[in-house]
Amino acid sequence: MGPTAKPTRQNRTITVDFRDETTYAALLGNPKAFLEVVFAFVLSIGFQLNHKSTCHRGGYLTRHSHYARVRLNGLTIWRVQCPVCKAVFTVLPHFVLRYRQMRPEVARDALVATRGGLSLELAAVICHISPMALYRLVCALGHHSLVTVLTRCGLPLPRYILADEKHSRCLTDKVYLPTIVSGRVLWHLGYSASKSAAAFTESYGAYQHAALAHEPAYQVRGALTDGFDSTVSSMRTLFPGARLGYCLRHALNKLPDKLIGVSASVRQGLRSKFHALLHRCRQRKSLRVVALGQRQRHFADRITTTVGEAHGERVRQWFQDKKAGWYTVLADPQMPAMSTVLDQAHNAIDRKLFAMKGFHHPGGSQAAFLTGLAHLYNLIPYQRRALNAGKCGVEVEGGRVPTSDWMLNLQILTSGGYQCAPAPPHH
Ligand SMILES: [Zn+2]
Repeated sequence: MGPTAKPTRQNRTITVDFRDETTYAALLGNPKAFLEVVFAFVLSIGFQLNHKSTCHRGGYLTRHSHYARVRLNGLTIWRVQCPVCKAVFTVLPHFVLRYRQMRPEVARDALVATRGGLSLELAAVICHISPMALYRLVCALGHHSLVTVLTRCGLPLPRYILADEKHSRCLTDKVYLPTIVSGRVLWHLGYSASKSAAAFTESYGAYQHAALAHEPAYQVRGALTDGFDSTVSSMRTLFPGARLGYCLRHALNKLPDKLIGVSASVRQGLRSKFHALLHRCRQRKSLRVVALGQRQRHFADRITTTVGEAHGERVRQWFQDKKAGWYTVLADPQMPAMSTVLDQAHNAIDRKLFAMKGFHHPGGSQAAFLTGLAHLYNLIPYQRRALNAGKCGVEVEGGRVPTSDWMLNLQILTSGGYQCAPAPPHH
């Protein structure tokens, strides 16, 4: 590199698959061949390189690129510079994790064990690493936002979202994890010590901020919540144009609470009736909202006749409070109706969260740690016997991942040197 080339501050690391270490070592003595392999790999994954915005190279390097070799922890690493915009790319071979002594295959096993529900401590013991090293690895992954990684996979920002917060514990304190899900993908997993509307708005606002940076005109059309005040109010503040719906399954589960003192079997029977009522309304092709209003009135009357006026009145009042949110769900066919996938995501995250002392590390960053876990949730493929086996959440939602190796994908997607190429033109 010439003396005029100022080191770039932006992280433009790229991870390149050299298949094995011997190949890498052999290529080190042959700059031309080395660059060819790098270009071929970048082409094969369908990504572009993150040049400076002024660069007209359209995301590629050429044989004329400048390069330099540097030593990093005893390993020779190449830096390649674009001759046009002077952006410098650090080429990390697949068998090295950025800033980490840990080998990717060790990280892979530990991360799978973590995702599978093992505690940080057990996963670390099994893989012969320290729990803190594993904790730091997850945090390092979490320094890249979910929006950045998911849009690199070609997923559009979701127009309809599920928003809900997981109640959890950090040592003795209650904490909340405001979450945004669309289909099988987590778009936001925040952390808040307070359940106030302001705290939730701040957390969900981080998602909005990242989304607007990616797409300045981004708007949410519909959001489904369970009706919790702070969530509803933060959605109203952040996405004023969005329809706000209330989860129908949540409604179903709440009904028995409105019938206190009624025998369990009668409550169960009424719950089933309510379930059928909601189901039939959703099946309708037209006038769904009108149908729901009518049927709910009849249902409240029926409760009055079977278990008494007080119960009927309580349920009527409850319908009155919530009906706007339920109508919203039925009025727009694209609105998600139930937050089931969000609950599944929460359960998956929760299983390890409680077992992890690392989560409560006083000097730790809960936000980065949670985002790191969310990347694992989105990118590790489902197990062989599961529905969508072999695919990860991103793929199930129609996103593209660069390679068939999830660990390599994680390395590529959380590095700063790649950007998503525009979708290939259809012929
Ligand atoms: Zn360039």
